[in-house]
Amino acid sequence: MKTLFEENEFEFTEITGPSFPGNDILLSVARLDKIHPVVSGNKLFKLHYFLEQSLKESNKLIVSFGGAYSNHLAATAFACRNIGTRCIGIVRGEQPVIPSHTLKQCEGYGMELHFVSREEYNRKDEDGFNKEVQARFGDCIIIPEGGFHPLGAEGASLIMEGLKEKGPTHICTATGTATTLAGLLMASKEDQTIISIPVLKNMTDIHERINYLCGKSYDNLVILDGYHFGGYAKRTTQLIKFMNELFLQYQMPTDFVYTAKMMYAVMDKIKAGYFAAGSRITCLHTGGLQGNDSLPAPTLVF
Ligand SMILES: *Cc1c(COP(=O)(O)O)cnc(C)c1O
Repeated sequence: MKTLFEENEFEFTEITGPSFPGNDILLSVARLDKIHPVVSGNKLFKLHYFLEQSLKESNKLIVSFGGAYSNHLAATAFACRNIGTRCIGIVRGEQPVIPSHTLKQCEGYGMELHFVSREEYNRKDEDGFNKEVQARFGDCIIIPEGGFHPLGAEGASLIMEGLKEKGPTHICTATGTATTLAGLLMASKEDQTIISIPVLKNMTDIHERINYLCGKSYDNLVILDGYHFGGYAKRTTQLIKFMNELFLQYQMPTDFVYTAKMMYAVMDKIKAGYFAAGSRITCLHTGGLQGNDSLPAPTLVF
């Protein structure tokens, strides 16, 4: 199977000009959001090796998990349709009367949706749950929520290929499950700093997650905490103002759940003189722009 990188060379946006606060610092954003109009960002990379496994086993059924707004489920549905594999999405919560935009997309790509109560959904990480899934749906490949699995991290490590041309000293990414972060670390050189910006409040288990995903820990990991703006999918007027300014100055849209928080953190640290002169920073635009659809209309200028 071709890697996504072979199919898609990344586009970069250079953050530069009179209002850029970093002297002698190069800041590029790798536009993974441009990979596909609907299924953008880091998600397809995390799926790569699961899909490869399915193909090796004559398009073995894929089962995965997510909430009604899960970018991961949408990406899984799209990717499975692309390789002709049947897929099932187990969705947290009762079936809504009006399905979310994301779930409609999933169904449009042919994913079969099964709704389970929150209680049942929360058992998905327990021992024995995978056996129950196999018993119910037959022999299948189970992809954990958000691709949170060593194979998901290995897939995310393919992203690093596309960043090489920039020769980055620092690579920055928003962190949810930390699977993308783990992939970047796996493929990093010791003299490259990998910077994580957690988008959840009190995310204190990143090092444990990295140990599980990579089987080891890394000294070149830096976590910039304190940029979650109140927690997952929370926002402030300051964050929205930043998103609008970023767009007006650099013509780059961001999403308020992940990439805006990451960019805010990086710009804030640049202003504070955190990065040495000569630093070449590459930020991952991991996509997620459709998440802005949930904002009331006049909030964003883009
Ligand atoms: C899922 C997602 C992330 C988080 O990736 P993890 O691998 O779960 O840490 C970051 N940005 C966007 C836009 C996402 O959709």
